[in-house]
Amino acid sequence: MAVSEFDIIEHYFRRRTTPRDDVVLGIGDDAALLQVPAGRQLVVAMDTLVAGRHFLPQTAAFDIGWKALAVNLSDLAAMGASPAWATLSLTMPAADEAWLEGFADGFFQLAERYRVELVGGDTTRGPLSVTVQVHGLVEPGKALRRTAARAGQRLFVTGTLGDAACALQALRAGDKIHPDLLQRLNRPEPRVDFGMALAGMGAAAIDISDGLLADLGHILDASQCGATLWVERLPRSPGVESIQDSEVLACQLYGGDDYELCFSVDADQAEQLSRCAQQQQLSMTGIGAIESQAGIRCKYDDGSLYTPQGIGFDHFRDTTDG
Ligand code: ADP
Ligand code: MG
Repeated sequence: MAVSEFDIIEHYFRRRTTPRDDVVLGIGDDAALLQVPAGRQLVVAMDTLVAGRHFLPQTAAFDIGWKALAVNLSDLAAMGASPAWATLSLTMPAADEAWLEGFADGFFQLAERYRVELVGGDTTRGPLSVTVQVHGLVEPGKALRRTAARAGQRLFVTGTLGDAACALQALRAGDKIHPDLLQRLNRPEPRVDFGMALAGMGAAAIDISDGLLADLGHILDASQCGATLWVERLPRSPGVESIQDSEVLACQLYGGDDYELCFSVDADQAEQLSRCAQQQQLSMTGIGAIESQAGIRCKYDDGSLYTPQGIGFDHFRDTTDG
């Protein structure tokens, strides 16, 4: 590499956001020193984006930087945690300065928004791959767990579903794409504030990254219950209007990359939460109910059954990219 590893870290990654008081020692030593506040639990998540697998080769560096952090913050959101710190392991084929500039801009724009400080990482040469680890904080007992779903609870999702999967499908087919859908694929918005509002309500939650059916399935397995899902109530964005109905539904159920929250709460909490969503200018839609009978029963509004064809993406089972 023409520029040294040291130069890259110093120029692109060190001190790019407002410093946090709880970072005793950030980038520069052998490891970071972080002060977990008294009365908080540390919440840790990690996600990797691999070129050609998690993003198309033509994806802008800014979007890769943004998304690498966003998908991690989405995991913190699904735990109800408040984001604090991040580490970044960056593997790239060459030190392309324009690429690094774009990548860092995307990463730090989102980092600043949620007051996340990058406190360390690793930089290596190889096929493009980005791993981010995020650290968040939550009051003991308040984290949102997948095991918390109970029969009788209502099932909700934030935002709209299927946008990113519709965009990806169109990109691959070379079709025209509504710019809003492309935005949803490249710059997902982690539902951090809403996750924090949900924390402590005894909700079960997951962020939808592998498709609604697959991810809802994880909640149901963990909680040992089942659900009825009303497929015609799944929220759609205006951007999918020109796409065939059945294709949109498939993207909503089996697609991925939504990064919305799917959660279940008692019916009497729904109103308070819906006000809270409104304040955050986020939509929240009732899509079904938790039941004691295992499995997911997908239904049309007239009560007839919809039979699902698949259950989302699995890196080791599926051979197509995801
Ligand atoms: P070491 O060889 O001791 O592991 P490195 O040269 O890998 O040290 O890293 C030096 C410092 O820079 C460390 O504080 C490390 O956390 C940080 N660092 C390295 N790569 C990155 C990166 N991509 N983003 C943020 N910090 C990084
Ligand atoms: Mg190192």
